[in-house]
Amino acid sequence: MITMPSLFISHGAPTYALEPGLAGAQLRALGKALGKPLAIVVISAHWMTREVEITAAQHPDTIHDFSGFPRALYALQYPALGSPALAVRVQNLLQSQGIAAQLDARRGLDHGAWVPLLHLYPDADVPVIQVSLPVDADAANAFALGQALAPLAQEGVLVIGSGSLTHNLYEVRWGQAQAESYAQEFSAWVRQAVIDGDTTRLVQSLARAPHAQRAHPTTEHFLPLLVAAGAARLGGAVTVLDGGISHAVLSMESYVFGQTLTIEARDYEPK
Ligand code: ZN
Repeated sequence: MITMPSLFISHGAPTYALEPGLAGAQLRALGKALGKPLAIVVISAHWMTREVEITAAQHPDTIHDFSGFPRALYALQYPALGSPALAVRVQNLLQSQGIAAQLDARRGLDHGAWVPLLHLYPDADVPVIQVSLPVDADAANAFALGQALAPLAQEGVLVIGSGSLTHNLYEVRWGQAQAESYAQEFSAWVRQAVIDGDTTRLVQSLARAPHAQRAHPTTEHFLPLLVAAGAARLGGAVTVLDGGISHAVLSMESYVFGQTLTIEARDYEPK
């Protein structure tokens, strides 16, 4: 069985589903380069709970957990199957590391999961489950959660942390291509820690990186990066997908932890 890398994906604004741009084209090429895993586990910025929860529905709904966006977005579906068996496997992995986790047989897939998956695996033919982030998780907790999921890579399961490398919704300027310099500086600092495989520096990013407070007024979109890094163990190969910065402050940068790939993005039209 192929050992899978883990991914951190910046999922942008919900409109990313309809407007893939460079980052979407990169994900499309990445999906082809990786091949299909047996299943996917997503940790999304958009599902936080008191204790860790794991989706266990056989047919998870596509949740349109946003408001005020174009009608076409609400018509999109990502009809991947769930995997109750994998949910139990993940629950056991977490509990073996002292992390309490409950199954949720009703919850579907939030847009942090299905928007990037539309580009990565547009056929929706790989089972997907989600694991929530505890509301009080800090960077070290998120990294430990990822480490607990690390055995899945050898089982052909792709772990994806879905957030945003920079995420200040107060400063979003729709359609502005010119990136704010603070977002570029924060991104560059984190990217270097990722490339260096420096776990300590990465876990301390929100305390040490320039403009961290402005790049992440709240932490939920940064923590999935630490889950992905923990799931693959840093220090190995890394691929950087520089998707630029959209809407002035939303970085579209993504990382492949554990594999070096040459990704040639071609213009891509979503299905
Ligand atoms: Zn988001």
